Amino acid sequence: MSADSKKCAMEGCLCMAPAGQKYCSAYCQAAKKEIKLQCDCGHPACESQKL
Ligand SMILES: [Zn+2]
Ligand SMILES: [Zn+2]
Repeated sequence: MSADSKKCAMEGCLCMAPAGQKYCSAYCQAAKKEIKLQCDCGHPACESQKL
């Protein structure tokens, strides 16, 4: 496990955020104020949890 890789800070997001960033994408950064059960960032890890 790499020290510079950590999970996106948004609840419900399964993606890994890039080094130095709290969120995996601009989507998660914009959605941080909202509580969501599912993430719509479009990354495969999150797409796969949708039905
Ligand atoms: Zn996500
Ligand atoms: Zn995310």
